[in-house]
Formats: sequence, structure tokens, C-alpha cells
Amino acid sequence: MSEDIVVGAGIYGVLVASALARRGRQVRILEARSIASGASGGPGRRGVRANGRDLRELALMAEAYRVWPALNDSLDGGPCYERTGHLLLLEREQDLMSANARIQMQQSQGVDCRFLSANECSQIQSGLAQSVGGAIYCERDGVCDHEAFTRAVARQAQAHGVVIEENTQVVHINVDNQKVTSVRTGDGRSTAVGGNLFLFANSGTAALVESAFGLKLPVWNACLQVMLTDPAPQVPITALIGHAHRTVSIKAHTGDQVMISGGWPGHWDETSQKGHAVPESVAGNLAEAVAVLPALEGMGIAEADASHLEAMCVDDIPIIDRLPGCANGFFAAGWSGHGWAIAPVVADLIVNWVEHDHYPALLAPFSLQRFGIHRGRFQ
Ligand SMILES: Cc1cc2nc3c(=O)[nH]c(=O)nc-3n(C[C@H](O)[C@H](O)[C@H](O)COP(=O)(O)OP(=O)(O)OC[C@H]3O[C@@H](n4cnc5c(N)ncnc54)[C@H](O)[C@@H]3O)c2cc1C
Repeated sequence: MSEDIVVGAGIYGVLVASALARRGRQVRILEARSIASGASGGPGRRGVRANGRDLRELALMAEAYRVWPALNDSLDGGPCYERTGHLLLLEREQDLMSANARIQMQQSQGVDCRFLSANECSQIQSGLAQSVGGAIYCERDGVCDHEAFTRAVARQAQAHGVVIEENTQVVHINVDNQKVTSVRTGDGRSTAVGGNLFLFANSGTAALVESAFGLKLPVWNACLQVMLTDPAPQVPITALIGHAHRTVSIKAHTGDQVMISGGWPGHWDETSQKGHAVPESVAGNLAEAVAVLPALEGMGIAEADASHLEAMCVDDIPIIDRLPGCANGFFAAGWSGHGWAIAPVVADLIVNWVEHDHYPALLAPFSLQRFGIHRGRFQ
């Protein structure tokens, strides 16, 4: 049987590989480093939230609410996903005034949410700053232990026959007569693509697309910071907390630690290919967290990590499409810091697209076409 090749063993690579294998396909994943070594790994947990999400992704999230619990239950190794509710805190007058419009828009896309007064917020999360004037609340939002989940899906994929080759970097994609024929890896080997090629290399995708197709995707790589505080039993975090204008996200972590993130940048060293946190971002991120939860003032930081690259896209939503002009090549990149929550739905849509040769309408907002680039004669 002809083999499908998946590049990258992050959440997208392992979900798609597992789904293909369960449909009887022969699948091989080529991973430059190790399973979950990119944005799908690292400390803390990922938010699975619709609240405050880019409006173009809401329809995917409405579907994701349905998919996450069942997918979580189907994996070995215990639950990784949990519904905690998400508070999108509002402090400024203009954010309070626009809240109803956002609530209406989210609801129209199938995302249950409601406005909470400051008093109602404090019944869900204690210790909020006096300046918090209210929040938009999504009860079905939650969090996921992303690294454990990615590893569990990888094990499931392997149990269905998927071969995962780690330490195998793809350096070039060979195309002949509108078909991907093979990929070349860093060790000089060539691996035939008898079936389809799925390029889910996140931070590595743009370089491969440019070298094979001469197409420069409007994406760039960012190393986003995550911090874990020292244990803080005096600051129990009961919901996932985000903010309408501050760059901050707060989550409960195991052992009474608090996870603080939200998109502050670290520094990426091209020579060592490693990222590290920078003092200004650590201080800035902590200050934003203290502004909404004053009890975090003076809290020690046990870990600050910025070693997991994410590709960001110029219009803040991913690009999910065929490789240009290619009958058997698909790619997704540019998750812009929020690709985790929608992964199970997007992976299913891509696999259905390939199986039925029918372009899913839900993916239309994410096509190359929005940049005036067409996928050729293939749909
Ligand atoms: C700090 C941080 C916080 C985030 N928080 C959230 C959140 O709260 N909610 C949310 O929805 N999303 C969040 N995200 C985004 C989400 O984690 C990512 O969008 C998602 O994990 C991307 O999955 P992926 O499989 O595409 O990429 P990755 O997990 O990065 O996997 C890509 C894999 O490809 C491999 N690779 C790269 N180049 C090559 C090559 N040439 N050959 C072979 N392999 C290659 C890499 O080693 C990597 O393992 C966050 C991201 C970060 C970094």
C-alpha cells in the first residue's frame, strides 16, 4: 500500500496520522527532534477556550466543545483535558461597552457565554482586583495538559501501526508533475511519498514551502513565554483567566503552582536553536498578572520557559490548505498562539477532505486564497 508521510510529531501530526491509520492507511511521521518537542510540549497547560477567540475561529471551537471530551476519554494515561470555565476580564469602559456585541457574536456561532458583574466574577474567582468591572464567561472552556495529551495520541497512533521516526529532519520536498514524490531528510535519505504528504512542522513549515514551491508564507516564528510560580496555596485559581486588553493568561497548575502566560516574547538563539525567557518579559507578564490578581504580588517564579516555537501569521489566524498546485500535499501553519484548542476539529476536517476529495467549508477562512494565492486546479 502507498504510504502517507506526515512531517512533525506535534498535536497536528499525531492526530492526523492516528486518524489516517484508523482508516487503514499506512502512515510514517518524520520528526526533526522528538514527539511534542515543539509548541505541543513544554511546561504548564494549554487553554481550550472560545472566549475572546478570533471570530473567524469560533465555528471551529463550537465543534471542538463536542469533540474534546470524547477524544480525551478515548486515550490511555488518564484525563488530560478539563472544563474549568473561562473569565475574560473587563476593566476599561470601552471593553465593558463592547462586551454585549462580543457575547452576541460568540453565541451566534454556537459558543455559550454570558456577562458577569464584578460580584458574580468574584463568586467564580476570588481575589480579583477592584478594577475588574465584569467579565464575559464561557462555562465550557477549559485547559489541557498538552504534552501528556500529544504523547497519548502518539501512542494511540503507534498502536494503529503509525511509524514515528524521531531525529529525522525533512530538508526538502520533491515535486514532479503536480505531485509530491518524495522528501529528503537531513541524513541524506529520500523517503517516497506514495500517498499524501502532510506538512505539520509549525515553525519549520515556511522554510520547506519556500524551498519547494518558491512561495513565501506570511508567517514568522515566535518563542512565547510560560511561567510557573512557586506553590501559592493562598491564591487558588479556579477558572481559566484571560483579559480583554492586558497581555495575560492565568491558569491553575499542579501542586498549587500558578501558570502565567499570554504571549510575552522570549529570545530565540539561532546558533543553539534554543529559546530562553528574558527578564523584561518575566517582569512584564508578572506585573499584568498582579494587576488582576493582587495576591500574586511578590510571588517567586519557579520556572520561566520560552523554548517552544510557534509560527505566527500576519492576520492572526492559521493557513490551512493544499501545497500550491499539488494533488497530494496538504499543510497547516501560522497558528498564532491559539492552535491547540481547535486541533482535534481541524485534524478531522483535513482527514475528511483527503478521504472524500471535498474541500470543507469550515476551513474556507483559512485558505491561501485570502492572500491572493490560489491552490491551483485541485480543490
Ligand atoms: C507558550 C505557548 C502557549 C500556547 N497557548 C495556547 C493556548 O492556551 N491555547 C491554544 O489553543 N493554543 C496555544 N498555543 C498554540 C498551540 O500550542 C500550537 O498552535 C499547537 O501546539 C501547534 O501544534 P503543531 O502540531 O502544529 O506544532 P508543533 O507542536 O510545534 O509540532 C511541529 C513539529 O514539527 C517538527 N519539525 C519542525 N520542522 C521540521 C522538519 N523540517 N522536519 C521534521 N520535523 C520538523 C518540530 O520539531 C515539532 O515537533 C500555545 C503555544 C505556545 C508556544
